[in-house]
Amino acid sequence: MTQREILQSLIDLSREVGKPEAGLVILGEGNTSAGVDEKTFYVKASGTELGTADEATFVLVEREPVLTLLERGNASDSEVESVLAKAVVGTSKAKPSVETLLHAYLQSIPGVEYVVHTHPVAVNSILCSRRAFELLSGRMFPDEIVCCGLEHVFVPYVDPGLKLGVQIKRSCEEYIGRHGRAPRSILMKNHGLIVLSETPKAALNACKMWVKVATILMHAAMLGGVDYLTPEQAHRIEHRPDEEYRRRLLSTDQR
Ligand SMILES: [Zn+2]
Repeated sequence: MTQREILQSLIDLSREVGKPEAGLVILGEGNTSAGVDEKTFYVKASGTELGTADEATFVLVEREPVLTLLERGNASDSEVESVLAKAVVGTSKAKPSVETLLHAYLQSIPGVEYVVHTHPVAVNSILCSRRAFELLSGRMFPDEIVCCGLEHVFVPYVDPGLKLGVQIKRSCEEYIGRHGRAPRSILMKNHGLIVLSETPKAALNACKMWVKVATILMHAAMLGGVDYLTPEQAHRIEHRPDEEYRRRLLSTDQR
């Protein structure tokens, strides 16, 4: 894909994510990014809305200076702002959002091209509850595993910005060390959802499926308790060849 096509795919994806009926974000909530090449990625600028995204919604950012800041792990708010401003490629006056820090790290993981961060009502109902960790400790049905992954990364609440970026990097590195590949979903306590994928379609599928999963979790919890698949049943779905095939079909556009 050309840089222009990548930007257009990110605009289309962001508009879908921002549709009110999707229940994923309101107002200026959430942000999206897409990898362009080895060095740069597009990310939503501060103060813009996903639902009305266009070319002006995104800034092209260089990964390296942001990753260096994450590696260092501490800096004042004004230092963070200045690193982000300097990382912008070209003459754009738009400001990358402070969540650009986590996008820079996630965009550096091999196989990750699109990152979508949202605050879905259903998912946040669970993430803001006292039982979040326990409720999200298993998988309930096959399509959940196909779209959202066998296991997600769970991140405790930390201050958005640099601290959150550092925490996500640490948690994802630990996950990658254990599984040998990128996670497909990250759930942040009292904050929201992040999905990572190779295609825009897979990212959108994962967002939609998480809303469904969260809704079913709440209903099942109210109906006497959640009956999870056993780890063996869940593992079998993740590695069945027909489910792999279905995942591939689902993640590409069939139009
Ligand atoms: Zn957020």
